[in-house]
Formats: sequence, structure tokens, C-alpha cells
Amino acid sequence: MKAKTESIVAEQSIIRGTSLLSSEEMDSLGSLIVVTGPSGVGKGTVTGGLLSLVDKLEKSVSVTTRPMREGEIEGKDYFFRTEEQFSTMRKQGEFLEYAEFAGFHYGTPESWVEEKIKSGIDVILEIEVQGAMQVRESCPDAVLIFLSPPSYEALEERLAKRATESQERIALRLEKAREEIKCRHLFDYEVINDNIEEAIGNLAHIVYAERLKIKTGDSERP
Ligand code: 5GP
Repeated sequence: MKAKTESIVAEQSIIRGTSLLSSEEMDSLGSLIVVTGPSGVGKGTVTGGLLSLVDKLEKSVSVTTRPMREGEIEGKDYFFRTEEQFSTMRKQGEFLEYAEFAGFHYGTPESWVEEKIKSGIDVILEIEVQGAMQVRESCPDAVLIFLSPPSYEALEERLAKRATESQERIALRLEKAREEIKCRHLFDYEVINDNIEEAIGNLAHIVYAERLKIKTGDSERP
């Protein structure tokens, strides 16, 4: 019974590319755009700039078990949950992807993303590399962008300046960054975040190009 329910859910999933839709319905879907890259590279700043520049584009709010930082807002920056609550959501199949990062869990709620894409809105996920690789596997139509630092030293400096983590946690994030940068060739695009305005402009070009992509093999359309 459980296997049957899961297979029905999978058939209905648009973002996972398993749904049987007409070519008109396919054309009206939004795109799933993933911005990944090491912690501290500026994913938040750059996607924030992109959201104010481009219309019909929204960012998914993730669930995390990390403690709230000063200034963060529940439901805007993250949905802050306990490990137990996160684990229940994971078991119930509520995440499009999830990962452990520097001692905490992070996940993308699937139903929100699915709804937006169905209503023609492009959705941005700002997530770390393991999660982005899961999206690569499960959502073949997603566009994956790797945001790189201009240099490893620049990343170290940014993380230290942010001063939101302990020395130990910064070291953990830097170690992780080295591994993540090695994976950049697995993604569709690389944008170097040296100049913020330029990086935002480059992301916007990618979003606009994606909107012009031919999504169906329908040869009947004029
Ligand atoms: P932070 O603790 O600095 O807010 O986030 C740590 C890392 O987790 C960042 O690289 C951030 O992009 C990533 N992250 C945030 N939300 C998610 C998510 O839902 N899934 C995954 N895989 N990573 C996420």
C-alpha cells in the first residue's frame, strides 16, 4: 500500500519530471534554478539582488535545525525546527532534497516548490553542494549554477568577517568549501562572485535564457 501511494505521488510530481503533461502545460511551468557554492561565497546576497531584479521569481525557504542567528526571522530566513521535527518531515517525504551541513540539517520543502512551478513562477533554491547534487539526480530539468569565490583566501576572509560562527565552525565550513569547490564541474554554469553587481547580472542572464528554452518537442505550434 505504501509503495503504491509513493508511486502515485511520483507520477504527479512535476519538478521531478515524471508527470504526464500536455505541451501547453509544460510551456507554462516555471523553472527550478539552484544556486549552490561554498558557505560564505555570497549566495544570499547575490540571490537577494537577483530577486529584486527579476520578476516572477521566488526563493524557497528551507527548514533547518541550526539555531537562529541574530536578526533572522522564522519563515523568512528559515523554518527553524528541532532535529526530531526535521527527522519526521524527512520520513514523511516532505523534502525535495536535504543535507547535513557543519553539524546541522537543512532541507527544501517540496510542496511549496511544486506549487510555485505549477503556477508559472520560477523558483530559486539557495543550497549547499550535496543537496544540489540530489536535485541534479531527481529533477533533470533543473538549472544548476555554481557560485565560486574569486579565490580561496577571499572566501576565508568573508567567513571570518561574517563573525556569526565560532572559530571551530568557521574551520569546519572552510574544510567543507575545499571539497565543494572540487565539485563545480558537475553543474551547468559557474558564476564567479568577485563583483556582486556583475554576478547578479550573470545570474539574471541565465534565468532569462532559461525562460526562452524550448521545453517540449511539439512541432505543431506556429
Ligand atoms: P547557513 O547555516 O549559513 O544559513 O547555511 C549553511 C549552508 O546550508 C549554506 O551553504 C546554505 O546555502 C545551505 N542551505 C540552506 N538551506 C538549505 C537546504 O534547504 N538544503 C541544502 N542542501 N542546503 C541548504
